[in-house]
This record gives sequence, structure tokens and C-alpha cells, in this order.
Amino acid sequence: MHVGTRVDVAIRGVRVEAPVRRAGGAGPSDDGHLILDGMGAAVPLDPRSPYSVRDGRLWLGETDTGLPVTPVRRPRFYDLTTADGVPYEKIAKLHGAGVLATTVVQTCVRYAESDRCRFCAVEESLYAGATVAAKTPAQLAEVAEAAVRLDGVTQMVMTTGTTNGPDRGARVLARSVRAVLAAVPGLPVQVQCEPPEDLAWLGELRAAGAAAIGIHVESLDEEVRRRWTPGKAAVPVARYEEAWAEAVRVFGRNRVSTYLLAGLGEDPDELVDGAARLIRMGVYPVRGAVPADARHPGRARGRRAGAAARAGAPGHRARRGAAARGGHDRRRAGGGVRGLRGVQRARRGGRVSRCPRSTCRSSPDRRPAR
Ligand code: SF4
Repeated sequence: MHVGTRVDVAIRGVRVEAPVRRAGGAGPSDDGHLILDGMGAAVPLDPRSPYSVRDGRLWLGETDTGLPVTPVRRPRFYDLTTADGVPYEKIAKLHGAGVLATTVVQTCVRYAESDRCRFCAVEESLYAGATVAAKTPAQLAEVAEAAVRLDGVTQMVMTTGTTNGPDRGARVLARSVRAVLAAVPGLPVQVQCEPPEDLAWLGELRAAGAAAIGIHVESLDEEVRRRWTPGKAAVPVARYEEAWAEAVRVFGRNRVSTYLLAGLGEDPDELVDGAARLIRMGVYPVRGAVPADARHPGRARGRRAGAAARAGAPGHRARRGAAARGGHDRRRAGGGVRGLRGVQRARRGGRVSRCPRSTCRSSPDRRPAR
């Protein structure tokens, strides 16, 4: 599939019933999970999209693109509950066709209105009763075992809201990884957290058995970060660079990833150059784009919040799907830059619009954004 088509679908969404979807959670969300031309895709579900699915193929208006599409089926493990009575679906979710994903701690110290990342809805699913605030290692191990046995899950992603301690959530991730691997030996697990204060935590995560790590900066532009991720922007990009370097040393090249969101007002060429720099240092840049109709999450509790399309992520938040890449990463990393250029072209073509909230610091009169 041409990367331009993939980017276009990721931005404009698709009209389709998707049994597996994510309506909220950490980082950008609100998507349905499809197998698009043989690859996992987390795509906005939008009744106004020009894309639809008919007869198992993707249509653009009245044109059959010829690309096969299959919505990911509802997994069987969703029908189970833990020994202590919590539905498995509240512990971890299926992303793509084979990735089990969980937010171990569903709260974030940066979720006050003034601090939160403007696209993030990490606590919304908690308020909606769709998840629990903290998943225990035992619960995660139980669900992972069932998901592998019943639904053929092949990898797991564990993210977390940022915690108060200097480990930034790494401690609970390490405990969780150990428990899961005791139940499912050999399952590739990717972890995700902010740069810990003490970078030795990265070694602890590797020692616990994590196969890969995501340390997500979201934007390399400090001004963009101050507007869109005001809490996280307190940690400068330079500190992320130290953490990436240490993570590459510990986990290996291309087993470290970071998100770069496109369309937040950054310079397109600087974004692409920054992605190339990351690739050179062994960090896999996962690109995302903020679609035209995303509402501002600051006031969107209970509604669609923080929608973002993951253009080209193999599972979801490639945050979903990153654990088992290994040798594929170099090829994908090149695709990452091409994908970013595609997103930027779409942006220049007017398909990525600006923040609709007039009071937002990212409002249309100040800067080009979603
Ligand atoms: S740091 Fe930002 S993206 Fe991460 S959970 Fe907190 S508010 Fe969400």
C-alpha cells in the first residue's frame, strides 16, 4: 500500500464497525483496529470520512482502492474476569490483531488541566469505569496468559501514567514485566515511561525482561512542547536525548522508540531532520498526526478526547506493536521518515486543521495545529 494512502486514512479516518477500539486512555486515542492491506492499523472511526469498507475492501467515495480490510475481531479473553472479579478487558486490551496493551497506572501526575498533554485522555477511561486505576502484577500475568492462550497474542505493551516518584513509573513497570514473564515466558514486552530521574531504572527494566522501551517526547520543538505538553515540557528534550542514549546502550539499537506527533505547529523540515537524527542514534521515531476533527481534551471528559491517527503504527500507539520488532526496525525506521513527509504533505494540503478551541494557546490565529 502506498504510504500516502495509509497516511490519508490515518488522518481522515474510515466508516466501519470495529469491534476492537480504544475510546480513551494514555496519549492520543479514539480509534478502531483494522488489518489494512495485511498490516495492523489504528484508524479514527469517523462517520464523515470519505473512506468506507465494502465487501472486505477499502473504498474512497465510489472508488474501490482494492486494498483488503478486516476489522480485528473481539478477542475471547474479553469474556473472562480475574480471580478477584475484575473483567479482563479492564486490565488490558487487544491492539491490532496480536498485541496486548495495558496502562498499568491509569493516573498521571501531569493530568491537572494546566499540565496535561492536550491530546491525552489517560484518566477518562477511569472516570468512565472502563478500567481500574492500578493493575496488579498478578492481574496482568493472569490476563496475559489467557490472551496468549485464547487469542494468539504475540507481544505486550505496558505504558503508565507518570507517577510521583523519581522512577516516573519504571518501578511498577519492572514488577509487572517480571510477573507477566513468569506466567508467559518469552513474551516480548515493550515498556513505556518518561525519562526516570535516575537512568539506572532503564537497566532495571531491561533486567526485568522488557524487550524494548518507548520514551515518548511527542515533539522535538520546545515551544510546541510548552503549548501541547506543558507538564512534560518541564523535562527538556536534552534530558530525553540522555535517556534515549542510555536506553539504546541497554536495550540495543532500534529497540528504543519515541513518538513524534505531526501537525502541532512544528517546522516540517525540522521534524523530518529530527526523526533522521533519532534513527541515526538507534531510536525508532513513531509518527502520528492529529486529525482535523480532534476536540480539545481539556473539556472533553466523557467525550471523544485526544484523537490522533497513528500513521503506519503496526499495532497501535506503536506504543502497540513495538515489542517484537527487533530486526524489522531499520526498515521501518526509514519508512518513518517517509511517513512523516507524507503527514506533512497532508498538512500542507489542508487536511490537518487547527485546534478548534478558540481559547487554546494553540488556536488558529496563533499557530497551525489541529
Ligand atoms: S505525561 Fe502526558 S501523555 Fe503521558 S499520561 Fe500524562 S498527560 Fe498523558
